[in-house]
Amino acid sequence: MNNDCIFCKIATNQLPSEKVYSDEEIIAFKDINPQAPVHILVIPKRHIISADELTKDDIELAGRMILIAQQIARQFHLDGGYRIQTNIGADGGQVVPHLHFHLLGGKKL
Ligand code: 5GP
Ligand code: ZN
Repeated sequence: MNNDCIFCKIATNQLPSEKVYSDEEIIAFKDINPQAPVHILVIPKRHIISADELTKDDIELAGRMILIAQQIARQFHLDGGYRIQTNIGADGGQVVPHLHFHLLGGKKL
């Protein structure tokens, strides 16, 4: 938990969000400023800054994040395809420094 991190606060319910998935170590919620009809963020509850910080110990966590995104894509009927994206650092366009996978779909991207 990082007290200055909005996604840590969402993960611990100190800030509200529209959650679509939650388990012991991962949650998913709707993006506040959607860039597509379906725009969901999949995040670890643990404060990991970005995918660049992942280590071998996180292989299962990172794999599960992708499978959860896949499961949510099915739940939202993104049958024509979708995008899983993660931005890393300032040059990668990352604004919130807590690892998140964007799940985008529902239109031709
Ligand atoms: P980034 O640019 O870091 O890859 O993406 C951050 C995403 O988080 C953006 O799409 C932005 O709309 C979303 N976001 C920022 N603050 C909040 C918030 O408080 N609640 C929710 N649900 N999404 C947020
Ligand atoms: Zn955090």
